Amino acid sequence: MTRIAVVGAAGRMGRILVEAAHKDDEATLTAAIVRPDSSLVGADVGELAGQGRLGINIVGSVQEVADTFDVLIDFTTPRLTLENLAICAEHGKAMVIGTTGFTAVELAELDSYAGRVPFVFAANMSTGVNLTVTLLEVAAKALGDAGYDIEVIEAHHRHKVDAPSGTALMLGRAVADTLGRDLDTNGVFAREGQCGPRDPKEIGFATVRAGDIVGEHTVMFAAEGERIEITHKASSRMTFGNGAVRAANWLMGKPVGHYDMQDVLGLR
Ligand code: NAD
Repeated sequence: MTRIAVVGAAGRMGRILVEAAHKDDEATLTAAIVRPDSSLVGADVGELAGQGRLGINIVGSVQEVADTFDVLIDFTTPRLTLENLAICAEHGKAMVIGTTGFTAVELAELDSYAGRVPFVFAANMSTGVNLTVTLLEVAAKALGDAGYDIEVIEAHHRHKVDAPSGTALMLGRAVADTLGRDLDTNGVFAREGQCGPRDPKEIGFATVRAGDIVGEHTVMFAAEGERIEITHKASSRMTFGNGAVRAANWLMGKPVGHYDMQDVLGLR
């Protein structure tokens, strides 16, 4: 059994992760962590996540429960995730990281733990999105340099704080890598006013923030006369929760290293 702790347990994803870990046959939930100043410290995490009493009291720090878990699942904020990597390195624990919105500097810091912690980091833990990456590589190879313009369009709920989504960047990067392009040079993240005609090598991003949309991503390959769109729509956050628990189970016994969902799903 994989012993799982969930940090940020009161968050939108945190509650889903508690439910997913609790219901998984190969995993057992052993700890849940929230902000130290939260009124939820001491409450039963099962009741918080709508699962009935589980006999697991919520705590206010990862350190406090470090001897109870094998894998820490973290869908919180970049700063907190980096602090948690340091704690996991110190205690010899593995981590599943779903947090998005890292800066380039923070990403380099995250990667520096590859020699000290076994961790899976993926901006999107759903099976479908990770298969979409593979489909995009096929499409990009066939179409990307043959006169097809590539645009990434994403939509999320009104509470999301980063844009474009980590998933949109991941999909755009998969296309860019396949075509030998660089998102720093070829990515276009805003268009307004007289921005001139489109550069054929551009990879454009457009963002929608509205209502309760769980997560939708379309990559469009458009030429004169036709258009191909590869779309993924998440209808429940449980797809991310189940993916994260699957990643936690997969990490058991793995050597230190930076892994992603392509590794977990055997798509590489
Ligand atoms: P949220 O704001 O609902 O949850 C974040 C939680 O982290 C909050 O409960 C907050 O209190 C908690 N937190 C912040 N600082 C903390 C601290 N010091 N100690 C303990 N807890 C702390 O956000 P969300 O919608 O659940 O998303 C969280 C992250 O997960 C975002 O970066 C989002 O983009 C990402 N996400 C990733 C995937 C994926 O598949 N990888 C899917 C959905 C969301």
